Amino acid sequence: ETTLDGAWTRRWIEAVAAAVAERKSALTALDRAIGDGDHGENLDRGFQAVLGKLDALDEQPTPGAVLKLVATTLISTVGGAAGPLYGTAFLKGAMAAGDRQALDAAALVEVLTAARDGIVARGKAEPNDKTMVDAWGPAVEAAAAAGDDVRAALEAAAGAAEAGAVATEPLVAHKGRASYLGDRAIGHRDPGAESSALILRVAAETQ
Ligand code: ADP
Ligand code: MG
Ligand code: MG
Repeated sequence: ETTLDGAWTRRWIEAVAAAVAERKSALTALDRAIGDGDHGENLDRGFQAVLGKLDALDEQPTPGAVLKLVATTLISTVGGAAGPLYGTAFLKGAMAAGDRQALDAAALVEVLTAARDGIVARGKAEPNDKTMVDAWGPAVEAAAAAGDDVRAALEAAAGAAEAGAVATEPLVAHKGRASYLGDRAIGHRDPGAESSALILRVAAETQ
């Protein structure tokens, strides 16, 4: 049975940093339409800082140790709305992973659930408020329904998060800067939902 160990978690985070750098302009363009045009820069700054700290990890870190390093680094470098939200997600995910050496599908679902719950506790967004919760909520449900194959759970989470991000387009926002725009947010995809889907898609693609 496949599981996700600390080395996998590190490869995932390195791939996320590369993907965020590549998608930086696109994420910022989404935020320029319904926010303040900094989401790509914010996340890129955070994940580049994470890259600089990965070598401080043990040689064989637990998944939880990697997630905790990501959390503390994002909290101190990203700022804005997304910094504390992603920081909380990774911190709660780290706590759910605990001291496990590797995550099976059930543990992965616990981690994703804790991340989603952390975002909701911190930002108080409900489903369809046009936020990153609209990616994380469906991702958790799809992963939980995917059975005991961890690769299938990752693929299900990524697909559901992508669909959730697309489904933010017709919505009016009720949280974050986009909520100031009223109906003018309609027709634009939420940047945080898009970056969340990207992070989960990269997880599904990380071997
Ligand atoms: P800022 O809005 O401070 O410039 P970012 O542009 O980095 O921060 O992040 C904006 C994203 O944060 C939004 O697209 C949305 O997904 C997310 N967001 C904002 N407020 C909330 C909230 N209360 N709950 C969940 N997500 C939120
Ligand atoms: Mg912004
Ligand atoms: Mg900002």
